[in-house]
Amino acid sequence: MEKSTILNEILEFNHQFVEKHEYEKYETTKFPNKKMVILTCMDTRLLELLPKALNLGNGDAKIVKNAGAIVSHPYGSIMRSILIALYQLKAQEVLVIAHHDCGMSGMKAEPVIENMKERGVSEETFNILTYSGIDIKQWLHGFDNVTESVENSVSIIKNHPLMPKDVPVHGLVIDPKTGKLDLVVDGYKN
Ligand code: ZN
Repeated sequence: MEKSTILNEILEFNHQFVEKHEYEKYETTKFPNKKMVILTCMDTRLLELLPKALNLGNGDAKIVKNAGAIVSHPYGSIMRSILIALYQLKAQEVLVIAHHDCGMSGMKAEPVIENMKERGVSEETFNILTYSGIDIKQWLHGFDNVTESVENSVSIIKNHPLMPKDVPVHGLVIDPKTGKLDLVVDGYKN
């Protein structure tokens, strides 16, 4: 799709969508019917597949997404979203769902940095970041093993000082083709 048409097509479609009252079949509340918050990956293959494979409809769950379904910082916006879901939005369980064949799996920082340089980010900018104590390679790094990554994110959530103690935190890996779930951490047992 051409760059200049994406936004226009969305706005055109949106006008019709609202006009025809197509939103009516999605009406629900901000509180998740199934009382759960899910952290998963932004992968395009999971957009519809993941909710279908988990039998989730509109209104059923809070879904937080990022690249890799990774909690990389205990006081970043992912952890804040999970805590808000639990304390303010009536979620009672957490599911971390990463997936096989993830773009963050085995991702190395170097090619991304090279790409940034090709797109006009100067060497000086990287130097400034380094002097400011920002380890850009570490920051861009994905994970080497999806199971370990899920276990690590579950552990950060479960052991967070602001977490309610009675909330189960589950860890799973989904197949982006079949939707099959593999259980990594059973939150009822931990
Ligand atoms: Zn992914």
